[in-house]
This record gives sequence, structure tokens and C-alpha cells, in this order.
Amino acid sequence: MKTNDAMQLAAVQTPRCQAPPLPRLPERSAAESARLKAHVRDLLRRQNAVLVAHYYTEAALQDLAEESGGCVADSLEMARFGMEHPAGTLVVAGVRFMGETSKILNNEKRVLMPDLEATCSLDESCPGELFARFCDEHPEYTVVVYANTSAAVKARADWVVTSGIALPIVRHLAEKGEKILWAPDRHLGSYVQQETGADVLLWPGSCVVHESFQADALAEMKRRHPEAAVLVHPESPRDVAALADVVGSTTAMIKAVQQLPNQEFIVATERGIFNKMSQQAPEKILISAPTRGDEGIAQDDKTRCVWMAMNTLEKVAAVLENGANEIQVAPDMAARARVPIQRMLDFAAEMRKKTMARQR
Ligand code: SF4
Repeated sequence: MKTNDAMQLAAVQTPRCQAPPLPRLPERSAAESARLKAHVRDLLRRQNAVLVAHYYTEAALQDLAEESGGCVADSLEMARFGMEHPAGTLVVAGVRFMGETSKILNNEKRVLMPDLEATCSLDESCPGELFARFCDEHPEYTVVVYANTSAAVKARADWVVTSGIALPIVRHLAEKGEKILWAPDRHLGSYVQQETGADVLLWPGSCVVHESFQADALAEMKRRHPEAAVLVHPESPRDVAALADVVGSTTAMIKAVQQLPNQEFIVATERGIFNKMSQQAPEKILISAPTRGDEGIAQDDKTRCVWMAMNTLEKVAAVLENGANEIQVAPDMAARARVPIQRMLDFAAEMRKKTMARQR
């Protein structure tokens, strides 16, 4: 299907991703929570391990990651932190591709994940073999894949990008006259195309959480909260992003809450991020953007990622106690996948250097 002159949606039949029901967080009293956190801190120390958590995981887990010397971040920062930290074991609280990326970049380290069933609808929509065949059929394209992909898909890519760095990398490639095969998130790809003017062939994947945000309902919410700034993650549909004051990565959205003068924010991304936003700007009011109002599912549930919610303090303790859920990536595949990830990290480092030089 042709969508506009410089953008095409690939005619690929992707697997249907069925999200399981949202797991309920274990009920803990404050005392139980404190005891469990102390136990995990002790396990981390004794095993020379560090906890690296994504912004979308449960608040108690994020807090523990920071209190114990680990980090809470987006997937790029999680990978970078794991590389730079001297710990021999990384406990990655997030979804599976994040554990794989950590292993790819830290082959000598043990990487554990609280739950190996924690996947991602974007990763699921882009199986390695199907994707490799598709790339082979389009040899004239530079293959740029989002971080939310398996090691096999990364191994087939020229570049890996996160939402925070997708625009400068694609702009850089477009300036060199390269055409982009983008996978797997079609909404993010469409946003990147719109912002860079690149010639883009889009894989038709999507995030089940961000795709549920609904433009008409958001427009109505804006009318009811005229003073609120609207923050939208670019995995959301284009008509939702069109209503935003800021479209950006998780890190950019957190910065916006800190820096914009608005008192209220309507936020279109996974609700777990509210924890970090509230820490950084406790006086600000955060409202979840509205989702499709079907199926009688509560708003809070629809803005939670079921796979991120599989990460709990109890499971972090369990994997440290029994060493289960270790991530393995075949060395040959890891070596190939490392190339496009390293390219992104080098590009990011170069960008930081240029920014610092400009500021001097
Ligand atoms: S929120 Fe969406 S993109 Fe993020 S892990 Fe969940 S399904 Fe994947």
C-alpha cells in the first residue's frame, strides 16, 4: 500500500500477537516490601550484581534499582549502563529484547531476567526468518531496526535505533541519499519519515499499548484540560501524535514534565513512567491519555504493558537465589547483532561530543 510519495507500508503478513491478561501486582504491606527490598539488596551485593530497570516496570522495582546503585532508564541508557558498570551479573527488569541487548553488549557478564515470558508486541511482530527474507527481497534499502527486536533481527540490520536517537540517525542516512527499510513499529517509522523526509519502507508492526491511544478522545480531553501540555510517545498513531505539544522518547517526556511551565500533563505512553515523572516533578499533575474505550477494560489497565508488569521484586529475588532465567545469545548471532548496536552507540557518543563542543 502506498501511503505517500516517500513512504510505503510493506505487504507482509505478520504474526498476530495476543497479549495475555495484565498480571496483578503481588499485595505487600510496607513492612513486607521493605523486607523484600533489603533481601534483594543483600543478594545483589553478595553476587556482585546490579539491577537495571526500565521506566515501565513497577514503582517498587524502579526505586530499588536506584537505591541499590543500579539504574532506571530507557533501553539505550540501560544498555550503556550495563556496559559501563563493573558488576559481573546484570539483572535486567524489562522485556526480553532488553536482556538480549545487554547480553550482546556484555558477553562476559551473566544476564538474568525476572521473567522470560516478558516479550513485546513489536518484537513478536517481526520474526527473524521472515524479516531476513524481506530484507533479501529489498537489497537497495539500508535496514534500520528499532531496539524492540530480537537478536536475530538486529543481526540482519545495518543500524539499531531507539526512539531517542531514531531521528538524527535516519536524517543522517537520508542526507547520504540512502533509502530506509524500517522495522518493526510502523507508527514510529511513519513519524520518523514525516520528520526527516526520508524514503521509508515500513514493516507493519505496532505496540499494543501505544496503538490503543485514541485521537478523538484525546482532543476532547484537551478541551477539558486547556492548560495541560500533551506528551506523546511516537509509537502512538499519527493522529494522536498530531495533537501533542511534545512528541518524544520516554526520556524526552520526563524532561518535558520537569522543564515545561505547565502544571498538568496528558501523557500518552505506558503508565509506569509516572513514577519517574512524579519523582522529578512532584508538584505536577499527570493524566493518562485516553485509550480506545472498548472491552470494558479500566483505563489504567490499558495503559500498562502486560509484559513489563511481569517484572516483580519477588521474581528478581527468585532469579538471584536460583540463577534461573539466564539470557543466552548464540555467539555468532551476538557478534553480528553487536555491529549495528555499536554503530548507534558510536553515533550517540559522537553527537554528545559535538553538543559539548558547541556549548563550550
Ligand atoms: S509498551 Fe509496547 S513497545 Fe514497550 S515493551 Fe510493551 S509492547 Fe513493547
